Amino acid sequence: MKDDNKTLTTGFGMPVDDDLNSVTAGPQGPVLVQDIHLIEKLAHFDRERIPERVVHAKGAGAHGYFEVTHDVSRYTRAKFLSEVGKRTDVFLRFSTVGGEKGSADSERDPRGFAVKFYTEEGNYDMVGNNTPVFFLRDPLKFPDFIHTQKRHPATNLKDPDMFWDFLSLTPESIHQVTILFSDRGTPRAYRHMNGYSSHTFMWYTHSGEYYWVKYHFKTEQGVANFTGEEADRMRAEDPDCATRDLHEAIARGDHPSWRLEVQIMTPEQARSYRYDPFDVTKVWPHADVPPIPVGRLVLNRNPENYFAEVEQAAFSPGNFVPGIGPSPDKMLQGRLFSYHDTHRHRLGSNYHLIPINAPRAAAMNSYQRDGAMRTDGNGGGGPNYWPNSFSGPAPDSGVTPPPIDVAGMAARHAYVLGDVDFVQAGELYRAVMSEADRDHLIRNLVGHLRGAKRRLQLRQAALFFKAEEDYGLRVARGLELDPEEVRRVAAMTQEERVAFTAE
Ligand code: NDP
Repeated sequence: MKDDNKTLTTGFGMPVDDDLNSVTAGPQGPVLVQDIHLIEKLAHFDRERIPERVVHAKGAGAHGYFEVTHDVSRYTRAKFLSEVGKRTDVFLRFSTVGGEKGSADSERDPRGFAVKFYTEEGNYDMVGNNTPVFFLRDPLKFPDFIHTQKRHPATNLKDPDMFWDFLSLTPESIHQVTILFSDRGTPRAYRHMNGYSSHTFMWYTHSGEYYWVKYHFKTEQGVANFTGEEADRMRAEDPDCATRDLHEAIARGDHPSWRLEVQIMTPEQARSYRYDPFDVTKVWPHADVPPIPVGRLVLNRNPENYFAEVEQAAFSPGNFVPGIGPSPDKMLQGRLFSYHDTHRHRLGSNYHLIPINAPRAAAMNSYQRDGAMRTDGNGGGGPNYWPNSFSGPAPDSGVTPPPIDVAGMAARHAYVLGDVDFVQAGELYRAVMSEADRDHLIRNLVGHLRGAKRRLQLRQAALFFKAEEDYGLRVARGLELDPEEVRRVAAMTQEERVAFTAE
């Protein structure tokens, strides 16, 4: 395209003579359809919105770099992690999860923390959250879960009954619920929160050794949160507070940064570990698997155009580079499918060609052709099939990940809820939280649970009790439930509890 930005043109480059007055038959109209410029302008405007992300709709992003500070080359062959001092360009998108695109940044919600590394071996996406665990461990439950966090089908209102009905019927959520209702559920700003892979991933070397890995991006600005009351106030005072904070900090040269640490487990350790190492409702306690430093991520450039760079950014946990791969984590396996799928719906089948998503430091040589909005040379006259003997790009068997043994009976294996599912929520409440943290947690929970039916309050309070007696009893007190009844319901099996609290 010719670079002359002085003359207004149509989308096809024709100079526009007048952009204030439609072509009409006489000064009083009517408007003539021959006003091509008017028709094009209205038609394009009518199509300005693309589908909102079904989750993580409200977000903010920035460009920056990742720099390796410690040698991890004995664990992974990934080139961008291969030597100390090596820098890779990144784009990071932060988001809330359940709210619509215009919702408030201070809502109680997990926060997305999605990093795209533009490596020389292709784009690597680390699509995490600001919490180290998740509500569910089976992707089959995900659409139902999200429905309960959004709006009621009849009233179009957020609905505490469906929110707590689902969570209390899904007790493996207790750990994430405890984090969500602590003040970490309302971060003061995107700069002031950690990012976690939550899932376990595989790292592997040239010689085929592999390790299980969890990522922790620790904020160098320090963790800072709103109290529940501050977050509520901020919804009215500045609904875009986190978006504004990120933009203004970068604009004034105050570049936010995170230290990347990883926890690494050998396959042998994983086989006998006290928790399922692929269960995303659990962390690996630091005392078991101490985090080791890897690098530092810095954000130093604001997007120039929000739609082009942030709205069209598309991340997928399935975007790997040689040296990094998936683990058997069931939630992760579901996401490996779902992210690419939702982007094809939202942005089209060639969304990988949009500049923010396209590889930058690596070549893109695939046999994919055609499709809506194919905007590059479409492979020119080169072969469009493999195998071919016309010098088309060939697979490189040197990047094959190591094989892992996954034999088993194909069935819908139920994950049996056990006492182990309550341990880490209890640990967080007892050993990590201060008295002030616990106080805020109870207040935040009681404030929200108060809107739900009493039978659901009872079922949920019993789950908190199972995590830690004091936790359940304080929630019960706040809701004016009978503590003895909470104790009795907590002693039941989940099936008995559900039957007892049925309508
Ligand atoms: P440690 O005492 O070694 O670490 C506690 C961790 O908890 C720190 O990473 C801290 O983050 C984080 N933390 C502090 N307050 C909260 C909160 N309100 N919500 C969520 N996280 C918080 O503990 P363990 O490794 O033995 O784990 C104990 C519990 O800590 C776990 O059950 C889990 O709930 C929580 N946790 C553990 C993590 C892990 O990967 N092991 C990661 C995050 C939380 P920071 O350092 O940024 O202050």
